[in-house]
Amino acid sequence: MPKTRLRLIHLLVAAALLPSAGCGGGESGTPASRTTKGDGPVHVVATTSIIADMARRIGGEHARVEALMGPGIDPHLYKASEGDVRRLGEADLILYNGLHLEGKMGDILTKMARSRPVVAVSEDIPRERLREPPEFAGQYDPHVWFDVSLWVTTIQPIVRELSTLDPAHAATFQANAAALEKELTELDAWVEQQIATIPPAQRVLITAHDAFGYFGRRYGMDVMGIQGISTLSEAGLKDMDRVVGSVVDRGVKAIFVESSVPRRSIEAVQAAVRSRGKDVAIGGQLYSDSLGAAASPAGTYAGMVRANVETIVQALR
Ligand SMILES: [Zn+2]
Repeated sequence: MPKTRLRLIHLLVAAALLPSAGCGGGESGTPASRTTKGDGPVHVVATTSIIADMARRIGGEHARVEALMGPGIDPHLYKASEGDVRRLGEADLILYNGLHLEGKMGDILTKMARSRPVVAVSEDIPRERLREPPEFAGQYDPHVWFDVSLWVTTIQPIVRELSTLDPAHAATFQANAAALEKELTELDAWVEQQIATIPPAQRVLITAHDAFGYFGRRYGMDVMGIQGISTLSEAGLKDMDRVVGSVVDRGVKAIFVESSVPRRSIEAVQAAVRSRGKDVAIGGQLYSDSLGAAASPAGTYAGMVRANVETIVQALR
């Protein structure tokens, strides 16, 4: 490729990457002493909609669950508003992902933990099952929900906390958890079957940010995120070249935009591939760090996983 064209692609890529940031940063809260719980459902505030869905399933009618972040919100960049601080302050229990997903909420979670339990749902995951990719600069990859078998391990911490706050309904929480675990175990097997229907050469998942590492590891896809690191750097540009090169060399049919990340970086890849005389489709939108709208098929965790897998399989098969 001529040098000037390569430089032009770099500029396009730089413009695409500049205004947003990726994963990492921040402090995490620690569980503290418990507040005494009165009558009525346990009031749970979860950071992401994905966690809130798990708490709703386990708590059933004995939990009133809210999520701070709605559809399409990027948790890496999310800062608590004044209204959020008030909602957190009214919670009996606060659930967050941990592993630095909520990179800008560390201070507020630490503060809240002085007067109520603040629990990272990822706390039971054995550390050896966590990804520690070099591009995350010494931190674990927080996107654990994309390996369904790994996300199952977030069920028991939620059961424990709800049961401590509302011991009278502990058996119900445990029964709801057992049903959820069964459903997710079946979902995990279904995802594996679906991905296996994609021809091996096409099992490449190219997305806007590095959210799908656990998915690729569990279900056998090569995963490339364009925006793996939080700031623009030479490494970021090399990553973009690597991604464009892979699309061209492997004849990848489709790449994917994400619901919670601006689409311009994926469009920049598409433009760069076209400038090399090849074409790649945008295969649709994947839900990465938040669920879809409440009433939509992707409005639950299981529905989100199914929607993503259907989008991926349809575009690559
Ligand atoms: Zn993310």
